[in-house]
Amino acid sequence: LAKEKGRNNYQFYISNLSQRACKKMYLENGLRKALENNEFTLYYQPQFNLSTEKFIGVEALIRWEHPDFGIVSPMEFIPLAEESGLIIPIGKWILENACRQNKIWEEAGFPQINIAVNISPVQFKSKDFVKMVEGVLKDTNIDPKYLELEITESIMQNMEDSILILNKLKNIGIKVSIDDFGTGYSSLSVLQNLPIDTLKIDQSFINDIKEDFNISPIVKTIIDMGNNLNLNIIAEGIEREYQIEYLKENKCFIGQGYLLSKPLSVEKINDIFKKFIYKG
Ligand code: C2E
Ligand code: MG
Ligand code: MG
Ligand code: MG
Repeated sequence: LAKEKGRNNYQFYISNLSQRACKKMYLENGLRKALENNEFTLYYQPQFNLSTEKFIGVEALIRWEHPDFGIVSPMEFIPLAEESGLIIPIGKWILENACRQNKIWEEAGFPQINIAVNISPVQFKSKDFVKMVEGVLKDTNIDPKYLELEITESIMQNMEDSILILNKLKNIGIKVSIDDFGTGYSSLSVLQNLPIDTLKIDQSFINDIKEDFNISPIVKTIIDMGNNLNLNIIAEGIEREYQIEYLKENKCFIGQGYLLSKPLSVEKINDIFKKFIYKG
């Protein structure tokens, strides 16, 4: 019986595995045509000043509407795009569209906001990355000070090259933030040598802030460290009111999360702008 059961499990595993491999291949093929078929859209998650409740920026988050699977999560297809190299043209499309959208908001007379764009480590390390960014800024004509690129701690595996690139971005006038901060391996000494502007505290740490505030000292440590290094600090994944209270008490004043707003379509962001403008 045990043998029988074992074999069944094995078969189940195999068919499950090949199903997954098959979906992966299918998605990867689909990715090749997704750009020309216009299957990508950007959603924008608002970022707020937690004290004044002012709307200060958005993070662009890509969505893929697959003809057969419906919406595919970026967590599923970005790794495929990285493996296949398609992240280079897709990443350029993301940056162009985010910058163009920010220009459209500016020209519509809305108050200027920051736009944050996620950059894959593969993109960051690619040969013409800085040139590509300069090209997009020139074409879309946005003021670089409103653009923030989100990179991850993984770029620190190659410190010397990364610092060169970061300095070039700084000279262009763009901001850089470290996304999902706290989940990687960066030490304080490494951090203070990086020409960056912002730490985004990973949402797992925000999720650890419970109602009684009886939490691990990690969040407070990250905030203190960021403040001491004169960096901006953004909390990600805020879902509860008391998390906002804790963050403000500990001197983190910028945040995003489902409690404040989910990522939204351009139309919905326009509504927020109007609401905020008419409120005065
Ligand atoms: P990320 O950059 O850390 O983005 C935050 C993710 O958390 C987003 O998921 C967002 O929708 C989600 N989120 C925001 N607030 C909350 C909250 O209160 N609770 C919870 N549980 N989740 C929240 P999304 O859009 O599925 O993106 C997942 C990841 O995929 C991103 O993590 C980023 O690493 C990657 N990604 C998304 N868009 C892009 C892109 O345009 N380019 C690149 N290279 N990567 C992207
Ligand atoms: Mg991000
Ligand atoms: Mg993040
Ligand atoms: Mg993430």
